[in-house]
Amino acid sequence: MTITNKTKIVATVGPASNTKEKLLELIVSGVDVFRLNFSHGTHEEHKKVITFIKEINETFNFNIGILQDLQGPKIRLREIAGGSIEVVKGQKIVIAYEKGEGTQERLTSTYNLAKDVKVGEQVLVDDGNLEFRVLEILSPREVLLEVVYGGIVKPKKGINLPESNVTTPSLTKKDREDLEFGLANDVDWIALSFVRTAIDVLELKNIIAESGKHAKVISKIETPMAVKNIDEIINVTDGLMVARGDLGVEIPLEQVPLVQKTLVKKCNQAAKPVIIATQMMESMITNPRPTRAETNDIANAVLDGADAVMLSAETASGKYPVKVVQTMTRIISVIEKNYLDIYHKYYEIQIDSSKNVKKERDFKSQAMVAHGCRLGKEVNAKAIICMTKSGYTAFQIATHRPEANIFVFTRSKILLSMLNLVWGVRGFYYEKVSSMSETFEDLERLLVEAGHLQKGDIYVSTRSQKLSNGKGGTNILKMDMVD
Ligand code: PGA
Ligand code: MN
Repeated sequence: MTITNKTKIVATVGPASNTKEKLLELIVSGVDVFRLNFSHGTHEEHKKVITFIKEINETFNFNIGILQDLQGPKIRLREIAGGSIEVVKGQKIVIAYEKGEGTQERLTSTYNLAKDVKVGEQVLVDDGNLEFRVLEILSPREVLLEVVYGGIVKPKKGINLPESNVTTPSLTKKDREDLEFGLANDVDWIALSFVRTAIDVLELKNIIAESGKHAKVISKIETPMAVKNIDEIINVTDGLMVARGDLGVEIPLEQVPLVQKTLVKKCNQAAKPVIIATQMMESMITNPRPTRAETNDIANAVLDGADAVMLSAETASGKYPVKVVQTMTRIISVIEKNYLDIYHKYYEIQIDSSKNVKKERDFKSQAMVAHGCRLGKEVNAKAIICMTKSGYTAFQIATHRPEANIFVFTRSKILLSMLNLVWGVRGFYYEKVSSMSETFEDLERLLVEAGHLQKGDIYVSTRSQKLSNGKGGTNILKMDMVD
């Protein structure tokens, strides 16, 4: 593979991309992580895709990651008799919490709106394309709505209640079953939809920890509550998704661009990966070329400092799944090669005064890594190389956004596909245990053989040497030239 982009691409798998051949084509075009959207598809279908990705990784020695996206408490309409209905301004209509198909006068939903909405509050359907207001709570399971902006109501469309206090738990029964399936199949990342507080994230992390698995958590930011609680959420999550689809319905859409920039910056500073998602190449669901505005959107996400940009229906059900990835790869590449302001972000390292041993070691490791990246810039290094057991050092290097390539060696196979989401990180499996100097030579040789380094290239390595007092962390920094 010759793609050297630092900003990663997450692509959602669906009917347009769920064969082994298509998945491979998408990878070769630039996909780093596949997203399995558990709002759609059966476990059997997802299992097939997971097997394909793992087989491809095995055959081609790739580290393509798998992100399981849990639906969360997404409220939806149920089926509609006759396929769809049309509603017009001023018309009254009931939404009832019951099974069965909706009709012209009475739609049915998967959640009991009557429990949480108040008279006068907004009810948005289909990403806000249709707007209703609550006129009356008719019964414990029925609300009467008036149409504010009408149109065609299609079955199973999402419902957003931006003005209401939605009380549903963040992990639904379906989410728990899906989660069990994801953990059993060793997904790398689990995205939690409609996160509201840090507690939602911790609840998921507890279940993962109890299962003994290592999956990391992406909090999808798509509610006003999540935006309000963003610092506590970033504190406990492993990564973030700016889920602009629902976010742009739940908060005024003009606020989304600044929320995106703020969230990206906070995640960069916290060394946690952040994904920009939804409608990035929307027009390519049906057209072979993106709009100019979409091209700018991808470019701006790269400039903001996103770790990854995401495709949803474009690759899941669109007409041009491969072309859309190729186009995205080209847009990212032009920015990364020509706009060097995106590199060398030296975030201040916070000195922790609590005298906590782990925090003190983290601080020292972070300082070493920061100086390794600074050194890399000064000597115009081609690579920053590290070895990691937990992935911690890889996240730390990426946070400084070095222009040099980041090569991460680890003997933990499960880390490789997880780290593939992180900005700039290219992982390699390395299991040999030898002396420090032999390992340094070995890693150089492997990178030269793979064509990543050439004679005359300068590179910086970080290592951790366990000291006799048991302390470790990144404590060695080395600069070298390939000869
Ligand atoms: P979804 O999440 O595609 O699962 O809704 C992304 C978003 O809301 O932007
Ligand atoms: Mn969403």
